[in-house]
Amino acid sequence: MTVYSGPVFDMAANQFNVIANHLDIPTDERERLLMPKRAITVSCPIHRDDGSVSVFEGYRVQHLLTMGPTKGGTRFAPSVDIGEVAALAIWMSWKCALVGLPYGGAKGGVNVDLSTISKRELEALSRRYMQEMIPFVGPRTDVMAPDMGTNEQVMAWFMDTYSMYQGQTVTEIVTGKPVFSGGTLGRREATGRGVAYLARRVMDVLQINPSRATAVIQGFGNVGSYAAFGLQNYGLKVIAVSDHTGALHDPKGLDIPALMRHASEHGSIAGFSNELHCDPEEVLTLPCDVLVPAAMERTIDARVASKLRCRVLAEGANGPTTPEADLVLEKRQDEIFLIPDILCNSGGVVVSYFEWVQDLQQLFWEEEEVMRREYQILDRAFEHMLARAKADRIPHRTAAMAIGVEKVRAAKSTRGLFP
Ligand code: NAD
Repeated sequence: MTVYSGPVFDMAANQFNVIANHLDIPTDERERLLMPKRAITVSCPIHRDDGSVSVFEGYRVQHLLTMGPTKGGTRFAPSVDIGEVAALAIWMSWKCALVGLPYGGAKGGVNVDLSTISKRELEALSRRYMQEMIPFVGPRTDVMAPDMGTNEQVMAWFMDTYSMYQGQTVTEIVTGKPVFSGGTLGRREATGRGVAYLARRVMDVLQINPSRATAVIQGFGNVGSYAAFGLQNYGLKVIAVSDHTGALHDPKGLDIPALMRHASEHGSIAGFSNELHCDPEEVLTLPCDVLVPAAMERTIDARVASKLRCRVLAEGANGPTTPEADLVLEKRQDEIFLIPDILCNSGGVVVSYFEWVQDLQQLFWEEEEVMRREYQILDRAFEHMLARAKADRIPHRTAAMAIGVEKVRAAKSTRGLFP
């Protein structure tokens, strides 16, 4: 038992043990690799619109400081707890190492149900959370980014709050900002665009013709909507989409740009159509070529995994597949090509890294440059994962994580143990 124990942290620990066994890592080295370096818990009091005061619990976990500053998103959701945040921070470390970024993993979050607070209260909460974190973050220490429930506006409030305390504008303290406040072109689209790009690469490998292929997307926020948009641009028909309010299914293909406009105006896909509704429970198991889970962790358990009817499983969300489901998918490797989360959604942190670099240099790139470099990094990591899976005869997730863990382990070993 640790302070982090819970279903999501246990899942990250379980996955790490699979890798550690595969890499033959001695027991006394494992804890040093797995356990987070720092965890911060804060109380964030805010004035409510009715004059009362509410206190929200916030967290930030910095997994490892070996590779450079830590980097990771901030999640505002009712599910958030210290264990979930720690697991997400650990996955960020393996992800950054896999794609070759000079960061350790971090993650943060506030336990809040966004449907119960106003825009003014959200601003107060965002600013108070950042203010509480000031002693622990910095452009060379820990750089935040968006995740579930946070967006460019929240990042702008974080950046402004930090800057007010420094007496100067420090854009490089967060990534995922609006472009006119020091953000980069291509960050908003980066994660979903990367998911679509990698799914497209796998379709080439499997010789699936995109113009005859279909896609299904669970979650229609930042990642899911841009993944759907990217896949539709490659010629696929997006036949079903779900979010926390329900699901839509149209075998002829949904109009994704129209759905994106609707979701950005109304906050969800609810009300888009009266005729196209389907059971959200069934979305994951619809027959399709590309399935993109882009909502929460642990939505694909062993039961769902055994019923999946996709050819490519492109994990847009972090941790959507449980270790028990992984065992099922391992047996179904010839039917379902898995693009594991730490590779599949890494376009987000890759372009966040570009944003940080541009802010530090105050030299901004064209969107074509951002996309070209993003795809170059994704291509390299994809080929690396495939080669490793083939050489070691291991599943794609094990291969991707083994590459990440190995790099961190090598860095720790050459730096040594202080003092
Ligand atoms: P978001 O808040 O923009 O969107 C989340 C979406 O999931 C919403 O459409 C919401 O309605 C939907 N959802 C929530 N519960 C659901 C349920 N039970 N069934 C179906 N849909 C549900 O969040 P996001 O930034 O798109 O993040 C989604 C996932 O991608 C998370 O796992 C996040 O950690 C991961 N991720 C995000 C980024 C990024 O750049 N934003 C990068 C890497 C990974």
